[in-house]
Amino acid sequence: MQTLKDLLIEELRDTYSSETQIVDGLEEMAEAATSPNLKLAFQTHLKETQNQIERLKQAFTHLGADPEGNTCEATEGLIAEAQEVMDEELSDELLDVALVLAAQKVEHYEIASYGGLKTIAQECGETEVATLLGQTLEEEKATDEKLTRLAETEINKAAVSVSKAA
Ligand code: FE
Ligand code: FE
Ligand code: FE
Repeated sequence: MQTLKDLLIEELRDTYSSETQIVDGLEEMAEAATSPNLKLAFQTHLKETQNQIERLKQAFTHLGADPEGNTCEATEGLIAEAQEVMDEELSDELLDVALVLAAQKVEHYEIASYGGLKTIAQECGETEVATLLGQTLEEEKATDEKLTRLAETEINKAAVSVSKAA
Protein backbone atom coordinates (compact mmCIF):
# COMPACT_ATOMS: atom_id res chain seq x y z
CA MET A 1 0.00 0.00 0.00
CA GLN A 2 1.63 3.21 -1.20
CA THR A 3 -0.97 5.90 -1.73
CA LEU A 4 -4.10 7.33 -0.16
CA LYS A 5 -6.05 5.85 -3.07
CA ASP A 6 -4.63 2.38 -2.24
CA LEU A 7 -5.81 2.84 1.33
CA LEU A 8 -9.23 3.99 0.10
CA ILE A 9 -9.55 0.83 -2.01
CA GLU A 10 -8.46 -1.46 0.82
CA GLU A 11 -10.91 0.16 3.25
CA LEU A 12 -13.71 0.01 0.67
CA ARG A 13 -13.06 -3.74 0.44
CA ASP A 14 -13.59 -3.91 4.21
CA THR A 15 -16.88 -2.05 3.77
CA TYR A 16 -17.89 -4.34 0.90
CA SER A 17 -17.28 -7.34 3.17
CA SER A 18 -19.23 -5.56 5.91
CA GLU A 19 -22.29 -4.98 3.71
CA THR A 20 -22.36 -8.56 2.40
CA GLN A 21 -22.35 -9.84 5.99
CA ILE A 22 -25.06 -7.34 6.94
CA VAL A 23 -27.37 -8.72 4.23
CA ASP A 24 -27.30 -12.12 5.96
CA GLY A 25 -27.58 -10.52 9.40
CA LEU A 26 -30.60 -8.41 8.46
CA GLU A 27 -32.35 -11.43 6.94
CA GLU A 28 -32.03 -13.25 10.26
CA MET A 29 -32.97 -10.20 12.30
CA ALA A 30 -36.06 -9.55 10.15
CA GLU A 31 -37.09 -13.14 10.74
CA ALA A 32 -36.46 -12.95 14.49
CA ALA A 33 -38.17 -9.57 15.13
CA THR A 34 -41.63 -9.94 16.63
CA SER A 35 -42.94 -6.37 16.18
CA PRO A 36 -44.35 -6.05 12.63
CA ASN A 37 -42.97 -2.50 12.43
CA LEU A 38 -39.48 -3.64 13.40
CA LYS A 39 -39.66 -6.56 10.98
CA LEU A 40 -40.61 -4.12 8.22
CA ALA A 41 -37.78 -1.73 9.17
CA PHE A 42 -35.26 -4.58 8.88
CA GLN A 43 -36.75 -5.76 5.57
CA THR A 44 -36.64 -2.22 4.17
CA HIS A 45 -33.02 -1.79 5.20
CA LEU A 46 -32.17 -5.19 3.76
CA LYS A 47 -33.32 -3.92 0.34
CA GLU A 48 -31.34 -0.70 0.84
CA THR A 49 -28.29 -2.74 1.81
CA GLN A 50 -28.49 -4.75 -1.40
CA ASN A 51 -28.54 -1.45 -3.27
CA GLN A 52 -25.58 -0.21 -1.20
CA ILE A 53 -23.60 -3.25 -2.36
CA GLU A 54 -24.39 -2.24 -5.96
CA ARG A 55 -23.16 1.29 -5.21
CA LEU A 56 -19.90 -0.11 -3.83
CA LYS A 57 -19.48 -2.18 -7.00
CA GLN A 58 -19.94 1.02 -9.03
CA ALA A 59 -17.31 2.71 -6.85
CA PHE A 60 -14.87 -0.14 -7.54
CA THR A 61 -15.53 0.18 -11.26
CA HIS A 62 -14.65 3.90 -11.04
CA LEU A 63 -11.47 3.02 -9.14
CA GLY A 64 -10.55 0.16 -11.48
CA ALA A 65 -10.29 -2.27 -8.57
CA ASP A 66 -11.76 -5.57 -7.38
CA PRO A 67 -14.16 -5.47 -4.37
CA GLU A 68 -13.05 -8.85 -3.02
CA GLY A 69 -10.09 -9.56 -0.77
CA ASN A 70 -10.76 -8.10 2.68
CA THR A 71 -12.83 -9.39 5.59
CA CYS A 72 -14.45 -6.97 8.01
CA GLU A 73 -13.80 -8.49 11.43
CA ALA A 74 -15.71 -5.73 13.21
CA THR A 75 -18.90 -6.69 11.37
CA GLU A 76 -18.25 -10.36 12.12
CA GLY A 77 -18.21 -9.38 15.80
CA LEU A 78 -21.28 -7.16 15.61
CA ILE A 79 -23.27 -9.87 13.81
CA ALA A 80 -22.05 -12.47 16.33
CA GLU A 81 -23.43 -10.26 19.11
CA ALA A 82 -26.80 -10.01 17.31
CA GLN A 83 -26.70 -13.78 16.94
CA GLU A 84 -26.10 -14.21 20.69
CA VAL A 85 -29.19 -12.13 21.41
CA MET A 86 -31.29 -14.27 19.07
CA ASP A 87 -30.00 -17.46 20.72
CA GLU A 88 -30.99 -16.27 24.19
CA GLU A 89 -34.45 -17.26 25.36
CA LEU A 90 -35.79 -13.72 25.62
CA SER A 91 -39.44 -12.69 25.74
CA ASP A 92 -40.72 -11.21 22.46
CA GLU A 93 -40.59 -7.68 23.89
CA LEU A 94 -37.03 -7.95 25.22
CA LEU A 95 -35.82 -9.65 22.05
CA ASP A 96 -37.04 -6.67 19.99
CA VAL A 97 -35.28 -4.20 22.32
CA ALA A 98 -32.05 -6.17 22.03
CA LEU A 99 -32.39 -6.44 18.23
CA VAL A 100 -32.79 -2.67 17.88
CA LEU A 101 -29.69 -2.16 20.02
CA ALA A 102 -27.65 -4.66 18.00
CA ALA A 103 -28.83 -3.11 14.71
CA GLN A 104 -27.96 0.42 15.85
CA LYS A 105 -24.41 -0.70 16.71
CA VAL A 106 -24.09 -1.93 13.12
CA GLU A 107 -25.49 1.34 11.72
CA HIS A 108 -23.04 3.40 13.78
CA TYR A 109 -20.12 1.34 12.51
CA GLU A 110 -21.37 1.98 8.98
CA ILE A 111 -21.87 5.71 9.59
CA ALA A 112 -18.27 5.94 10.81
CA SER A 113 -16.99 3.97 7.82
CA TYR A 114 -18.93 5.81 5.12
CA GLY A 115 -18.34 9.22 6.69
CA GLY A 116 -14.59 8.70 6.82
CA LEU A 117 -14.36 7.07 3.41
CA LYS A 118 -16.39 9.81 1.74
CA THR A 119 -13.91 12.40 3.03
CA ILE A 120 -10.94 10.33 1.84
CA ALA A 121 -12.53 9.86 -1.60
CA GLN A 122 -13.02 13.63 -1.90
CA GLU A 123 -9.39 14.15 -0.91
CA CYS A 124 -8.35 11.71 -3.67
CA GLY A 125 -10.37 13.69 -6.23
CA GLU A 126 -12.73 10.71 -6.63
CA THR A 127 -15.88 12.81 -6.84
CA GLU A 128 -18.20 10.08 -8.20
CA VAL A 129 -17.04 7.67 -5.50
CA ALA A 130 -17.58 10.33 -2.82
CA THR A 131 -21.12 10.93 -4.13
CA LEU A 132 -21.94 7.20 -4.03
CA LEU A 133 -20.58 6.91 -0.48
CA GLY A 134 -22.52 10.01 0.55
CA GLN A 135 -25.80 8.48 -0.69
CA THR A 136 -25.25 5.38 1.42
CA LEU A 137 -24.13 7.46 4.41
CA GLU A 138 -27.51 9.24 4.37
CA GLU A 139 -29.38 5.90 4.27
CA GLU A 140 -27.41 4.60 7.25
CA LYS A 141 -28.13 7.77 9.24
CA ALA A 142 -31.83 7.63 8.34
CA THR A 143 -31.99 3.97 9.41
CA ASP A 144 -30.34 4.76 12.73
CA GLU A 145 -32.85 7.57 13.32
CA LYS A 146 -35.77 5.36 12.30
CA LEU A 147 -34.66 2.72 14.82
CA THR A 148 -34.34 5.34 17.57
CA ARG A 149 -37.89 6.54 16.83
CA LEU A 150 -39.22 2.98 16.77
CA ALA A 151 -37.53 2.24 20.11
CA GLU A 152 -38.91 5.41 21.71
CA THR A 153 -42.46 5.15 20.39
CA GLU A 154 -43.04 1.40 20.53
CA ILE A 155 -40.34 -1.17 21.22
CA ASN A 156 -38.97 0.09 24.54
CA LYS A 157 -42.44 1.02 25.79
CA ALA A 158 -43.71 -2.50 25.14
CA ALA A 159 -40.81 -3.94 27.14
CA VAL A 160 -41.50 -1.55 30.03
CA SER A 161 -45.19 -2.57 30.20
CA VAL A 162 -44.30 -6.25 30.23
CA SER A 163 -41.61 -5.69 32.89
CA LYS A 164 -44.15 -3.88 35.10
CA ALA A 165 -46.66 -6.70 34.67
CA ALA A 166 -44.08 -9.31 35.67
FE1 FE B 1 -25.11 -0.56 4.82
FE1 FE C 1 -14.37 -3.21 9.07
FE1 FE D 1 -27.00 -0.07 7.37
